Amino acid sequence: MAEHGRAPDLSHRGERRAHPTGDALIEPFVYQAAPCRVIFGPGTIRQLPAELRRLGSRRALVLGTPARESQARDVAALLGPDAAGVFAKARMHTPTAITDEAMAIVERDHIDGLVAIGGGSTTGLAKAIALRTDLPQVIVPTTYAGSEMTAILGETQDGIKRTQSSERIRPETVIYDVELTFALSTNASAMSGMNAIAHAVEALYARDGNPITSAMALDAIVALSRALPRIIVAPADLSGRTEALYGAWLAGICLGSVGMALHHKLCHTLGGMFDLPHAETHAILLPYVLAYNAPAVPNAMASLAATLGHADPAAALYELAKSLGAPRGLRELGMPVEGIDTAAEQALANPYWSPRPLGYDAIRRLIGAAWAGEPPTGSGHS
Ligand code: NAD
Repeated sequence: MAEHGRAPDLSHRGERRAHPTGDALIEPFVYQAAPCRVIFGPGTIRQLPAELRRLGSRRALVLGTPARESQARDVAALLGPDAAGVFAKARMHTPTAITDEAMAIVERDHIDGLVAIGGGSTTGLAKAIALRTDLPQVIVPTTYAGSEMTAILGETQDGIKRTQSSERIRPETVIYDVELTFALSTNASAMSGMNAIAHAVEALYARDGNPITSAMALDAIVALSRALPRIIVAPADLSGRTEALYGAWLAGICLGSVGMALHHKLCHTLGGMFDLPHAETHAILLPYVLAYNAPAVPNAMASLAATLGHADPAAALYELAKSLGAPRGLRELGMPVEGIDTAAEQALANPYWSPRPLGYDAIRRLIGAAWAGEPPTGSGHS
């Protein structure tokens, strides 16, 4: 963290336990590095033509969303004859009907590479095509969602979302151009950034955690918790935007490296049941899930307390989300109060892994507090 000019106390990095001799003991672990080339910095989009050729592509399809089609067309112009077309119809949750439409173009135009510019939705479309074709992908992320760092794809068909994992899905190259994130509004930046923090927090107590991922998780939390408040007051400041995107990259690696737990599963369930917005749901729920899990994950809590500079990390994240303008509770997202009981039942019907075992009363209290937006109860000893 030398580049941030602050050296947080990372001496508790998740996996270290006190040994009876007094020495630190690092628990046994497995670490699998993912093969992905990352280009990071302002203006790095200019390296796209060379990066695409490096993958052997001369007839790429550029992907985007309808709202940002002009940006996809700018990218195609940058590629010149190496761009064979633009398909700007990416949608949330990767509907297979859209992928089928894109696949027809891929086959008709003999596409040999994919470029996706946008957030998790555009990345999802590239991954869906890569799953079917094994074409190389260059992803240019413009939000902090982190999908570009994972080998996971969630696709929707007939209203049912199915998630799968495959090395064919994992993007070959990712270009993080900080300048492309300036267009992201302060609110969207803040909520997307809290979504990224949630990846890092859950990595700290992952069942398959390891010291490398934990170190990246803590670095991600330092970077994002510093940068997001700065983006709110100075959205055009390059240093805040740079640090946020750097943190989002690291958080994305966490998401792609270790298993997520109660928080991600609960967001997925509540989002699906009540059609809640993805990033905001993460921003609201995270402090409550952390407070609940706190007694079961003392090492992660100690690391977070040192990193956030706050004795109660759940309260610190609650205050951070509040200061960033997050909605005050799930009720502000439109979740009905009657939904609390149904959601608690659903959570138990389809049990999630959680470091702290789940019971009906506990999960109901957690969802109820998140619905109301009350401050989380400190250590979670309830
Ligand atoms: P998104 O990609 O849907 O983008 C939201 C909107 O913001 C879109 O209209 C987009 O065009 C616009 N946008 C994107 N970047 C912008 C910018 N810089 N300036 C202005 N507007 C911009 O949203 P998201 O939060 O990035 O992604 C969410 C989706 O990604 C969800 O469906 C989620 O399930 C998925 N996801 C998947 C994974 C995975 O590993 N498979 C990981 C994280 C998220």
